[in-house]
Amino acid sequence: MANFDKFREECGVVAIYEHPEAETLAYLGLHALQHRGQESAGIVTSDRMSLHIHKALCFADAMPTEKKLSRIRGMLAIGHTRYSTTGDSAVLNAQPILVQSNKGMIALAHNGNLTNAQDIRTQMEARGSIFQTTSDTEVIVHLVAQSREQTLPDAIADALRRVEGAFSLVMISPDRIFAARDPRGFRPLAMGRIPAQGDQRQDTIVFASETCAFDLIGARYEREVKPGELVIVGPEGTTSRFYSSTMPQSSCIFEHVYFARPDSRIFGRSVQESREELGRQLAREAPADADLIVPVPDSGVTAAIGYSAESGIPLRFGLIRNHYVGRTFIEPQQSVRDFGVKLKLNPVRSLLEGRRIVLIDDSIVRGTTSRKIVRMIRNAGAREVHMRISCPPTMSPCFYGVDTPRKKELIAANNSIEQIRQYIGADSLAYLSLDGLKKACHDGEKTTYCTACYTGVYPTNLVDVEEIHPVAVEKR
Ligand code: SF4
Repeated sequence: MANFDKFREECGVVAIYEHPEAETLAYLGLHALQHRGQESAGIVTSDRMSLHIHKALCFADAMPTEKKLSRIRGMLAIGHTRYSTTGDSAVLNAQPILVQSNKGMIALAHNGNLTNAQDIRTQMEARGSIFQTTSDTEVIVHLVAQSREQTLPDAIADALRRVEGAFSLVMISPDRIFAARDPRGFRPLAMGRIPAQGDQRQDTIVFASETCAFDLIGARYEREVKPGELVIVGPEGTTSRFYSSTMPQSSCIFEHVYFARPDSRIFGRSVQESREELGRQLAREAPADADLIVPVPDSGVTAAIGYSAESGIPLRFGLIRNHYVGRTFIEPQQSVRDFGVKLKLNPVRSLLEGRRIVLIDDSIVRGTTSRKIVRMIRNAGAREVHMRISCPPTMSPCFYGVDTPRKKELIAANNSIEQIRQYIGADSLAYLSLDGLKKACHDGEKTTYCTACYTGVYPTNLVDVEEIHPVAVEKR
């Protein structure tokens, strides 16, 4: 789970077909996906005649009170929770995007980044199209509306063939739910089922970015939506088609390292198992002579469990995270050193004093936070601090839906490991190798992964990189 918002995922999506409380299930699903973005949230439902929308700028405001629920009650629903990586952060860009088109009413919720969105938009605007948002997602809706295909499923397939980059998306029409993944399968999208109950005539089919959403709504995981697949659920049942020719799969390995919740299955594999194995592998590759393993909470915890199990060094929670840090707080008038980190983390002096510590985290971005944490542990009396990172150095930005700083701001892109060690003030520093990362996540078995942020080798043509990559947003 996210740690200090070092990186930010842009979105989580859910879809429900069909259930007498579809809007409530969509809301609960989004609740479980808030770690993927909580800047805005929205739900669109269908009562089979028309679509109804509720959007809000922050997740808490999207809370469906009885009154709000009664306005959007439906049998079908899609939902979206968002942290923006393209477009302005405004309710205007909150999703789902709902339009009345020549193919009828449709709404779309999208996780990922389109790498040719600006290119398509420029061409469309030159031909007179008017866009309502600055989000890359809107081009998909325009492509669907402008498609010469006669049916909505054909028009969606046609639109998806024209966009490039990363997309896991769900769409709703008055009587159908659509779920699709890009041909390389960058972002996750799982399909599940809630068995029919009471006077329900059929099972409820659900889709979600992560399976932790299924657990909350009582759904059973069935399978992944496959790369290049379009699943359609409607009165005729569930059908599937592949709208694109096969491409080499490149699912985001960083979902396993950092983003997804450990209680989720991502790309068909348990995140908990991957993350523990990252720690075990790290212990084999970079052992340390030390007294205690201390994770940086929360994101370093699972890897630290693996490191401890492999090394035999006991794990203790020597850093306590304050989970109640609000958006606003009163800063002390006189500057307190490392105040921001102290607000979120506090060392347990009785555990750290006089000990040699292996500090486990999942990444170092700019190095500023790691430096403060190492200093915090030393100030609490630790004798030695050995930093271990459960993935390789982050060398390049992501263009597929993860908000990383620009290359010039990534410490590992511009410094040697020894220089980084000196900067953060650790006694030793080691990262997991790329091979170790792939091995821990079972690369090449069920899934092959994108590792571009560690290698700089991108799996797609980046048509309009500069346009889609925003200013660095890491705020600590
Ligand atoms: S560049 Fe990194 S974060 Fe982006 S999709 Fe690839 S592995 Fe994931």
